[in-house]
Formats: sequence, C-alpha cells, structure tokens
Amino acid sequence: MLVVMSRRATEEDIKRVAEFLEAKGFKALVSHGKARTVVHGIGVIEVDQRDFELLDNVEEVIRLTSNYKLAARESQGEDTIIEVNGVKFGGKYTGLIAGPCTIESYEQMDKTAQQLEESNVKILRGGAFKPRTSPYAFQGLGEEGLKIIRSVADNHKMAVTSEIMEVGQIEMFEKYVDIMQVGARNMQNFNLLKELGHVNKPVILKRGLSSTYEELLMSAEYIMSGGNNQVILCERGIRTFEKYTRNTLDLTAIPVIKKLSHLPIIVDPSHATGLRDKVEPMSRAAVAAGCDGLIIEVHYEPDCAVCDGAQSLYPWQYNELYKEIKQIAPIVGKEIL
Ligand code: PEP
Ligand code: MN
Repeated sequence: MLVVMSRRATEEDIKRVAEFLEAKGFKALVSHGKARTVVHGIGVIEVDQRDFELLDNVEEVIRLTSNYKLAARESQGEDTIIEVNGVKFGGKYTGLIAGPCTIESYEQMDKTAQQLEESNVKILRGGAFKPRTSPYAFQGLGEEGLKIIRSVADNHKMAVTSEIMEVGQIEMFEKYVDIMQVGARNMQNFNLLKELGHVNKPVILKRGLSSTYEELLMSAEYIMSGGNNQVILCERGIRTFEKYTRNTLDLTAIPVIKKLSHLPIIVDPSHATGLRDKVEPMSRAAVAAGCDGLIIEVHYEPDCAVCDGAQSLYPWQYNELYKEIKQIAPIVGKEIL
C-alpha cells in the first residue's frame, strides 16, 4: 500500500502515518521525493484504506494488491477452462448455451430443444425459479420445471443450466442441474455464494445490475474461497441512463476481466439488450471481443413465450447466428466446438 502525503504534510504527519501503518502490521518505509513524500506500507494485510485517507495531510492511498486473490490473474497465469458436456468455456474456447427464458411446459422445452439440437446446442438453459420484478408475474414452475428441463435435456443429450435463488434450493438443484446459475439480482447473495463454494458443479455468476468489475470478482471469490473454482463470469448488461435497450451491454468487461482474472467471461446479449434484433449484432461483437461464451434466449415460438419473448430468438435466427460466430471466433484465436 502506498500513502501519498500532500505538499503541506509536516514531519509529524508523516510520522503518524508510518506509525499507523506499523500498528496495522505493515512495515513502513518513508521515501522523500522532490515534491511529495510517500509512505510505503509493506505487507499483505486487510485494511480499510479510508482509515488512512482520514489522517492529516494524506492526499491519496493506493492499494497495490487486489481484494480478491483466488480469482485474480496473479494467482494463476493460465486461463481457467471449464468443460460441461463437451462444451468448453475459457482459454481458446467459446462455449454456447441456449434455451428459453423460462420453462413453461414439456412440449415447449422439447420443441425448442429439438430445434436447438440441429444447431449443435449442448447446454440447455431455462429458469424454473424466476426473479421477477413484479410479484404478480409468472414465477416459474419450480421443481416441476427442473424435472422437465432435465428430462428434455437428457432426450437431446444436453446439459442443463438453471437459476438458483436461495441456499435452501441447493440440494434440489444438485439433482437436476449441471451448471448452477446465479442471477444478476443475487450476485451479492453472500450466503448463497458461500454455500455454492461447497458444491461440485460449475457456477455461472451474472454481473449485478449496478455492480463494478471488482464487486463481480469479489463475489466470485466468495465461491472460490469455499473450494469451488469452477466459476464462469457473465456480463449481462448494466443499468445506465439509456432507456432504449433493457440494459447497456458493457463489452469492455471482456478485456478488463481477462486482464484481472483467469476465470472465463461469457456474455448474455438477450438480457443486455432486451430486443431480439439487437441480440445477433451484439453476439457477433462479443465473440469478436474475445468472450469465452454466450448464453442466448431462444424459444420455438417467441411470440407466445410466457416470459422475455421479445428478446428471444427464433430457432432459425439462432442457427444463422451460430454459423456467423463460428466464422468470427477463429479470427480472434478462439474456437467454438
Ligand atoms: C436469466 O438469465 O434468466 C435472468 C433472469 O438473467 P439476469 O439474472 O441476468 O437478469
Ligand atoms: Mn429472461
């Protein structure tokens, strides 16, 4: 940690900072520059940097190590690659996940999966427990829905991902689901994250609506510190002043997260844009930016979908998109299996 003193700092102020650092367990080293004095705090110790910012004539406090350790790029040079049902996320691989927003019926899932199978989809998505803004909106079929998606996926040789909302659902999800999905609204449900740290299945961790990259990585750290290293981060759009699209897709998250972490980062262009005709261009852009995967909403009949039909692709549109991104991926050194 570096504590930069202001020009007005007296020897007394500098001494106080050095003593404060030592009291917290750091080794303090004072270096007098021409214009400024910097007090170095040597050591890796958890502190609240505001405690230092409040000391007299401290201008700036700079952390040299990140708050997340296991998720940090520093802790692992190579990219983490997560494989589910032959689909790989991370490294040179771009994995694909598709399916409807929510599980409505066996017929709806089966018809959708049948068409997705033709586009080589190997991981089926579909929510059984839906975090809806309105308590009056469809909340999902619950465990019945998980049974449907499992059975449909098995028939089409697919793996399953579905959103888990609370700790009490873990046992149930372990029976039906191959990848646990933590939704944007639950990114900071720390009790859930801690418990998912003890689960032996990959977790898709979606970025919160107003969360920073650091907060996303700190949430990943919660899961990893419990022993589960299989975390797939997901950029799904953030809340901005723009109203035209459902959210604003922050594609910068891809290169930034790749620099900060070894974990795979996938993109959800469906919830990011909220509009079917925007999903295709933003998927192409995400692949071009080097994302490690995409999770896309597709419904066999989006106009009749119970939830998020307007952002769901028709299966033929997904097929077109699949062909396009398969061509784009190699240009940026990636591969879609
Ligand atoms: C979803 O993927 O079904 C979903 C609700 O997404 P998000 O958590 O990103 O809003
Ligand atoms: Mn949805």
